[in-house]
Amino acid sequence: MEKANKSEELFSRAREVIPGGVNSPVRAFKTVESNPVFIDRGEGPYIYDVDGNRYIDYVLSWGPLILGHAHPEVVQNLHKAVFKGTSYGAPTRLETELAEIIVDALPAVEKVRMVNSGTEATMSALRLARGYTGRCKILKMSGCYHGHNDSLLIEAGSGPATLGNPGSPGIPESFARETIVVPYNDFESVEKAFAVYGSDIAAVILEPVAANMGVILPEEGYLNFLRDITRKEGSLLIFDEVITGFRVAYGGAEELYGVDPDLTCLGKIIGGGLPVGAYGGRREIMDYIAPDGPVYQAGTLSGNPLAMTAGITTLKILGKGNFYQQLREKTDYLVRGMQEICRDKGIPVRFNSLTGLFSQFFSEREVRDYQSASQTDRKLFIKFFKMMLEKGIYLAPSPFEATFISQAHQQKDLDQTLEIYREVINSL
Ligand SMILES: *Cc1c(COP(=O)(O)O)cnc(C)c1O
Repeated sequence: MEKANKSEELFSRAREVIPGGVNSPVRAFKTVESNPVFIDRGEGPYIYDVDGNRYIDYVLSWGPLILGHAHPEVVQNLHKAVFKGTSYGAPTRLETELAEIIVDALPAVEKVRMVNSGTEATMSALRLARGYTGRCKILKMSGCYHGHNDSLLIEAGSGPATLGNPGSPGIPESFARETIVVPYNDFESVEKAFAVYGSDIAAVILEPVAANMGVILPEEGYLNFLRDITRKEGSLLIFDEVITGFRVAYGGAEELYGVDPDLTCLGKIIGGGLPVGAYGGRREIMDYIAPDGPVYQAGTLSGNPLAMTAGITTLKILGKGNFYQQLREKTDYLVRGMQEICRDKGIPVRFNSLTGLFSQFFSEREVRDYQSASQTDRKLFIKFFKMMLEKGIYLAPSPFEATFISQAHQQKDLDQTLEIYREVINSL
């Protein structure tokens, strides 16, 4: 099929002046061996590309848009806010309002500092953990993504509980040696790491529900185990809830699983679609940050009024009525429908799901860590992805990303998605 293709034109133009033509690598569609569609606008659950094609969007800007695109209240409040100026570099009432909402929502957060991205949130939380404990090493789980900062873009070495290798050229080996990497959901390797490096470990950081190697749920007792061992060893426990915060429950995974971390990193949803991150936690730890404490962290545009406005508006809507029950029902409906279709066709697929997000893995076996997530059928995924896109379903262009659902997805959208899904699965 030959169609007018403005996306291709724009992509060639972009590649001349932007590395890879994109401002974040996964957008380039390399994993799925194709070129990206360029988006013109979004409305509710839909995005429209520059060629006028409509897609039902299950990426939702990689998670933030839990209300869908251009939610009328968010747009209206932003419109009002922009006339009052876009940034002052001085305190505003809005920052306190958003902080109060976050502190009320998240059981383990007593104070919170705003930054501009999730990467900044995790970077700052690590510095705080190191400053507070006076220790250097960080323990992370392989397959968990915490943004692109040097201490966390680290890959596992060989064998369990080993010091890491740089996840990118440009990260010094010496930095990587400060990060220990262990498999997700593996209790024993955490014990081993503490046995060897215990008094050097400033913090354990993880996504309490992993959502960057596909969605992987913590196994029974795993989060409690991490809580106990870090407390016993004098390390801090950091939950990176940049995706899960205000998604899997209003109070994030920490509310859902009833485990209180020392520090929590946030982003995505709390910015209502504008660039935001935040980190928060126990008062005595947070008071260690400048200007009250010695650990330095700052930001010219941090807490800017537009991002605060979009965040406050979004979180207020999430706090009303039975928002999460409805989101859960939509997620379950879609996942159950897809499961049945795959069962009818006899295609081996594993679904991992929770409220508002899920993953489909082309795999015979259960997916519980990075290793099992890596062994799924990549070729089949690429074929599936391309056919879904062609038929108007916009999924993340990688088998390692979550599928997100918003309040804006209506029954008819879910049913249309399932109809197309059946066609695609049947012709795989
Ligand atoms: C997206 C993400 C980040 C990084 O946030 P950015 O705003 O992209 O810097 C950190 N942690 C998790 C769990 C994420 O999903």
